[in-house]
Amino acid sequence: MKIAILSRNSKLYSTRRLQEAGIERGHEVDIIDTLHCYMDITKSRPAVRYKGEELPLYDAVIPRIGASITFYGTSVVRQFEMMGTFCVNESVAISRSRDKLRSMQLLSRKGIGLPRTGFAHSPDNIKDLIRNVGGAPVVIKLLEGTQGIGVVLGETAKSAESMIEAFMGINANILVQEYIKEAGGADIRCLVVGGRVVAAMKRQAKEGEFRSNLHRGGSAEIVRLTKEDRATAVNAAKIMGLNVCGVDLLRANSGPVVMEVNSSPGLEGIETATQKDVAGLVIEFIEKNASPHKNRTRGQG
Ligand code: ADP
Ligand code: MG
Repeated sequence: MKIAILSRNSKLYSTRRLQEAGIERGHEVDIIDTLHCYMDITKSRPAVRYKGEELPLYDAVIPRIGASITFYGTSVVRQFEMMGTFCVNESVAISRSRDKLRSMQLLSRKGIGLPRTGFAHSPDNIKDLIRNVGGAPVVIKLLEGTQGIGVVLGETAKSAESMIEAFMGINANILVQEYIKEAGGADIRCLVVGGRVVAAMKRQAKEGEFRSNLHRGGSAEIVRLTKEDRATAVNAAKIMGLNVCGVDLLRANSGPVVMEVNSSPGLEGIETATQKDVAGLVIEFIEKNASPHKNRTRGQG
């Protein structure tokens, strides 16, 4: 098959591994810089152009869309969808998962375990916002944060209040969340491919830190999942409509709760920790689900 990886950087571990895994299995794999794609949408025959030429018809596209280019990246993915190309994750599912609040609203409606969460822009009663999620300590998050930046712990009602006021002062959308203390600074990343958890790791925050992000000095190790962990991750992926994603869980006393769902999960940490060929499983998923473009003419699909 002819596969395209949409990625801003061909040297990134995940991009390289996906290309290698595709080639190993006998496919042709091109890496296309998402931001350099341009589209002609005035024609009835949708196409993507790149470096002065029309891109060939790919059988499958693997979108690796970073958070900073969600808007343009998802429109490139959508253009491939218009051409009838199989996209590992659909553009609408990527957009949906990028919005933390929207994701939580969808997951909560379907009964997925979540930390009790309040969302606000300009609450008139901050004390109530804190009380409503169970009182201090609470976790306060910027809606657009990644890698643990913009996630703070308000240990007392007083400090939580002043942090919320500070965020309000800079006109930010904030999320106030029950602090899952019993998680002990650890979270669980489940890598879901095609409705199955294919690899999982536990990330432990460094001493004196509650955020387990590897970027914040956390460390990764393999972990055995419970049936409930597994079911929660698989259901969350299904509700978000993502075929390939990372689902982050915290183990709360009430059972696993979902913190976030990532549509372009990094492969380095999880492949290193678990020694699993996750990239190969993504290619295998494509083999099972993409129908080759060969007998198709453009504009169909
Ligand atoms: P980011 O998108 O920046 O990674 P997260 O929501 O994943 O933000 O939070 C970063 C880390 O902080 C998590 O991996 C987890 O270890 C910790 N954390 C976040 N929310 C909670 C919470 N409600 N209770 C306990 N720990 C939390
Ligand atoms: Mg996170």
